[in-house]
Amino acid sequence: MAVLPDAGEIPGAGLGADERKVSALLDRGDLVVLTGAGLSTACGIPDYRDREGRWKRVQPIDHQDFLRSAATRRRYWLRSFFGWPVVARAEPGIGHRALAHFESLDRVALVVTQNVDGLHQKAGSRDVLELHGALDKVVCLACDRRHSRALVQEWLDAANPGLAAAVPRAAPDGDADVAEALADGFHVPDCPACGGLLKPDVVFFGDSVPRPRVDAVMAAIDAAPGLLVIGSSLMVYSGFRFVEHARRQGRPVMAINQGRTRADHLLEAKVERDCGEFLHALRLREAPDIAAVPYHRRRLSGQA
Ligand SMILES: [Zn+2]
Repeated sequence: MAVLPDAGEIPGAGLGADERKVSALLDRGDLVVLTGAGLSTACGIPDYRDREGRWKRVQPIDHQDFLRSAATRRRYWLRSFFGWPVVARAEPGIGHRALAHFESLDRVALVVTQNVDGLHQKAGSRDVLELHGALDKVVCLACDRRHSRALVQEWLDAANPGLAAAVPRAAPDGDADVAEALADGFHVPDCPACGGLLKPDVVFFGDSVPRPRVDAVMAAIDAAPGLLVIGSSLMVYSGFRFVEHARRQGRPVMAINQGRTRADHLLEAKVERDCGEFLHALRLREAPDIAAVPYHRRRLSGQA
């Protein structure tokens, strides 16, 4: 096929030095990527932190608080009642889709995500390790049964008639701003099988990631040519330790993130661009003829 003169035909052309390094790392194949909230903000799921890595809003639920305090659990489930539908409806973005595409080409071996929104799987990624669990499951702390979050939403709705009429602003991880006053009268259902406490199947702050998950990520990094961090400030140790591990193993670590990360001093390259847009741009370089031909010509030639 005739291809128009295009920067995409020359490897690395049109990219900055760090952008070329990220592109080259991806070309080596079997890469491990670590994704964070920055990848999902474009999908309507807000981020906790600003560009300096500071808390934007109130600190999220603490694990021990959740176990100890019925008031904390009421507040959590009330906010989740309004926040969960936003997560359930969210669609993956161009960044998620680009990563699924790279996995299909064996460029990416494993997606490790700090996100609990399930968007990598919705985009078609198969090898996904959810470091902090997933919001679509709820676990009973007494009998260990898993319940679907969609089903728990029905229980919450039935236990709190009329509440669905209020529509607060969506917040991170299926949370939402809800007047504290509402929480007092909020009823939290127990496990229907045993009456035990229900908890979203996610790792709250103050809890630790299960060791087998950590070991699986370490082993994947050992087998990979490097680690690419995408849309995370790495302020939480559960993600930062993988950067330390990769460096100890002599693997290069690179990042695509707007703003400061805790690992800036350890990065071999850093691309300060919107991570979804940059991943999408890298994907388009795979098919420069499609990307370069003006849209009206693609329509004429049936490529659109
Ligand atoms: Zn139970």
